[in-house]
Amino acid sequence: MLYSPPAVPEKWQPAFEAHIQAVEGKVALIAAWLLLVTIMVYQFSHELDQGHSSGLLATEFAFRLPLILLALLTLSSHYLGKPRWSARLLLRLLALALMAMILALLLLGLKTGTAGLNHASNGLVISFFGVTILSVRGLREWPLLFLLPLAIFAVLAAALGIPAGELGALFFDPLVMMFIGMIVMTALRHILTSEFLARQQLAEMASTDPLTGLLTRRAMRPLIEHELQRAKRTGAPFSLVLGDLDLFKRVNDTWGHEAGDLVLKETARRLGAGLRHQDALCRWGGEELLILLPDTPIEGAREVAEKLRQVMTLPIDAHGQPINQTISLGVSGFREDDTLDILVSRADEALYTAKHNGRNRVEIAAA
Ligand code: GH3
Ligand code: MG
Ligand code: MG
Repeated sequence: MLYSPPAVPEKWQPAFEAHIQAVEGKVALIAAWLLLVTIMVYQFSHELDQGHSSGLLATEFAFRLPLILLALLTLSSHYLGKPRWSARLLLRLLALALMAMILALLLLGLKTGTAGLNHASNGLVISFFGVTILSVRGLREWPLLFLLPLAIFAVLAAALGIPAGELGALFFDPLVMMFIGMIVMTALRHILTSEFLARQQLAEMASTDPLTGLLTRRAMRPLIEHELQRAKRTGAPFSLVLGDLDLFKRVNDTWGHEAGDLVLKETARRLGAGLRHQDALCRWGGEELLILLPDTPIEGAREVAEKLRQVMTLPIDAHGQPINQTISLGVSGFREDDTLDILVSRADEALYTAKHNGRNRVEIAAA
């Protein structure tokens, strides 16, 4: 391929797919309105034409009808939620119906004379451009949207005895329009992809702590809120554990800030390794870590916290220098009527008690 938009990493593929589907939904909605209005305008403006018999008008309307119905279906799908067809399917059907309509009108024009033929060949230029715009997913849609209808058209034209020479000139402008549409859509696809990637990168930056790779406080809050709502709904217990490194300032003062960073990273690694898949660990503040333990009553959380306290008692190797770094932990369990801040503040009080009682220990929030 001469040109392709920036690659989307595997981990963001599902989000990208959802993004494309949202764009397709918007394009389908706008296209449906636009098609309805323009078809009506063409239908009624032709009624004013000289030489357009009522029989011809009825035939033209019959050719336009499938597209009108599909546009109405698309609007119904958007506004009423019925039918629940994907925007991708609706876009394909709209594009195919548009091609079918304009190619049928062209055949009609070729059979019946110049006035209709003029309109149809203008319509062909517009439609070729329109169909490229409807194919949000780019070139891979084109065999279906262009080659298939054109092949059927060629067969029908031959069957109706229309000389091939007459068709060549008719398709020149539309094909140029198709290529312009290709360029426009390739550029739009590039913008769409780059904008998506930039947004994902920003979101990841906001939710990941660069030093430890842990979740940030900002990213943790919605997870706790979610657990709170679930606990209130279903009565499932859950707990928080707030850990704070003991006398960490001394590590920085004695071994330097870089060694301090190393200790923080190793702490994050050890605590993360000691947790289950559904638990969430975040850097709540400077050297404070908060752990969310779903489906865990306070007693279970105390055991988890005790295990984490123990894994921290092994010395940490900082470039050959063993550093002894302990942690104090406070545990709070969900209670009816809790809010996030109340739940965290109880863990904080328990942590304060742990510090007060000599550090390197676990305390649970008072009943
Ligand atoms: P306590 O046992 O009472 O918690 O004592 P402490 O020394 O751990 O408590 P204090 O709050 O006085 O000190 C926290 C230290 O953590 C001070 C700050 O410089 C350090 N710190 C916070 N964030 C970072 C960081 O990202 N890297 C490094 N190296 N140090 C950090
Ligand atoms: Mg501390
Ligand atoms: Mg602290």
